[in-house]
Amino acid sequence: MLTDYHTHTERGPYTVSWLEEFLKVAKSRGIEEYGVSEHAYRFKQTAHLLDNPWTRERRTEDMDEYMSMIMKARNEGHNVKFGIELDYIPGREKGLEQFIKDYPFDYVIGSVHWLGDFGFDLLEMKDQWNGRDLKATYDEYFGILSRMVETELFDFVGHADVIKVFGHIPDDEAFLEDWYQRLSELFAKHHAVVEVSTAGLRKPVGKMYPAPKLLQACCERNVPIVINSDAHRPEDVGADYDQAVQHAANAGYDQLVVFTKHERQFYPITK
Ligand SMILES: [Zn+2]
Ligand SMILES: [Zn+2]
Repeated sequence: MLTDYHTHTERGPYTVSWLEEFLKVAKSRGIEEYGVSEHAYRFKQTAHLLDNPWTRERRTEDMDEYMSMIMKARNEGHNVKFGIELDYIPGREKGLEQFIKDYPFDYVIGSVHWLGDFGFDLLEMKDQWNGRDLKATYDEYFGILSRMVETELFDFVGHADVIKVFGHIPDDEAFLEDWYQRLSELFAKHHAVVEVSTAGLRKPVGKMYPAPKLLQACCERNVPIVINSDAHRPEDVGADYDQAVQHAANAGYDQLVVFTKHERQFYPITK
């Protein structure tokens, strides 16, 4: 079994024919469990969950249109899971909880993309990295990620160490390993699932998420995984899965999770 639960169709219309472009690639790459996880900030129903100048400009869509694309595709016989990528913003837990209940999601991805108004993974904000204290920035990011996991609101953790996206990595292995131990303990304690994501291979950092040592620490504590691409184009669905499967195996994994209406089932990872 292979999954690809982290994909975005946002560059096209909410139509089944556009979705089929993604499904075609999933099928060709042997991915049986495919799902869409649009960014929640794009929808007018999420203004109370995340509001900053960048997201405000981009909140132009309707959840109902997105959901109806998924439902229509299912009616036409496609196996496609209904997901969403939700930004975790500390203090917005009540609203997030209600939003998650309001829709029949199969899974909800919890992601941290914002440190205040700093969208650290956005190309247009990349300059804000200049002169930043890397360790303090990592502490802030991993701190918010920890709070996110403590809420237990999300089905899996999106790109757990995406803070390295542009290649800003503190030159201090002990510092990183200390965080990896703390995070993996917290993931286990709060029954989190982490994604193995190939997206970082297509970013300046050129590395998989999460780092081998973080994934290994997760495996040692029996934290389950899903394997995802974070594709924003059909051709990236299941991209670099040979490396993802190898990355998971190297860390000690032989199983992954399949989600149906937030319920987990375990399957062997097979290509
Ligand atoms: Zn993301
Ligand atoms: Zn994403």
